[in-house]
Amino acid sequence: MSGLYLHIPFCRQACHYCNFHFSTSLKYKGEMVAAIAAEIRMRRGYLPDRPLRSIYFGGGTPSLLDKEDLDLLFSTIEDCFQIEPNAEITLEANPDDISPLRLRDWHNSPINRLSIGVQSFAEADLRYMNRAHSAAEAEQCIEMAQLAGFSNLTVDLIYGTPGMTDETWQRNVEKLLKAGVPHISCYALTVEPKTALDYQVKKGISPAVDEEQAARQFELLMQWLEAAGYLHYEISNFALPDKLAVHNGNYWRGEPYLGVGPSAHSFNGFSRQWNKANNAGYMKAIANLQKQDAMPDFKEELYEEELLSEADQYNEYVMTGLRTVWGVDVNKLKGRYREHFLENIDNYIGDILVLEKGGIYVLSKKGRLLADRIASELFY
Ligand code: SF4
Repeated sequence: MSGLYLHIPFCRQACHYCNFHFSTSLKYKGEMVAAIAAEIRMRRGYLPDRPLRSIYFGGGTPSLLDKEDLDLLFSTIEDCFQIEPNAEITLEANPDDISPLRLRDWHNSPINRLSIGVQSFAEADLRYMNRAHSAAEAEQCIEMAQLAGFSNLTVDLIYGTPGMTDETWQRNVEKLLKAGVPHISCYALTVEPKTALDYQVKKGISPAVDEEQAARQFELLMQWLEAAGYLHYEISNFALPDKLAVHNGNYWRGEPYLGVGPSAHSFNGFSRQWNKANNAGYMKAIANLQKQDAMPDFKEELYEEELLSEADQYNEYVMTGLRTVWGVDVNKLKGRYREHFLENIDNYIGDILVLEKGGIYVLSKKGRLLADRIASELFY
């Protein structure tokens, strides 16, 4: 199964915690969409010859795309790839972009799933994060999307923001449960280097993230969503039984995907490529390549590449496997990597951080709080 990711590198304003690639100037949006369409045509041979099972518009803020932009991208994709009849086609949307008109356009397009970046229903949290939407917009957008015919929704929330009480966190989660949102992604607030939040914390303008609060709110989240029947299938992702994300699930299972647009990553089973994270540089590279139509120059102008060694492949498998309910299957490990894994995993089983059944190792609830640390300690 293959996936296609499109990175739409524009946002209305910069959220203080965000380290994704985007520009807040929309001046070259039309040119960028044309460049992304051109990249799709140039790289159509990258994926193994099998139909797309998922298409994902991420960013940045893909809900800033106009109908004409989406029409161009979909007609290009349909020209270049076969698409499975039931492919999952997701658009990330911010609450301030969601309106009946836009929803109608999206519903009339091949998009069949919306990923809504609510982050919080509390005004204080939204202002702290510098989100472009209000609490009222966060409240309204889910119902609007459902009324427009989008039942396949996923909503993002952030916990661990300074001042967020457990009661506020519970209210946020309960709103999604009450609305019947079938897929929920929740992330602890993280202070990434070179973000506005990083600057504020260093200058003492904003308090540092309280690790205990974040861990407690993650544990509460697991309790609430498990009780509501959601499967905790990836460390940050919860779904009702038939609503697991296809696109991200493919990432976690090591399936190939092509990423187009500035900063987008691609993976074909043995190498990773990542496009340059610079809007002007990206468009220039695409324009030059259209003139030259020469793949050898393509690489240097557009993306960097890393061939994955056996050790890299083992490390990636352990990292992604442990983060999911599918776990690490020791029978898939060979030679020294299998030995290394088995030699080291016992410490965590003794501490009940990892559970084993039939050669498959998964994190316990306690272990999920330490997922990244455990995985990195098992690296080869
Ligand atoms: S809208 Fe999304 S991509 Fe844009 S700045 Fe905010 S978090 Fe980052």
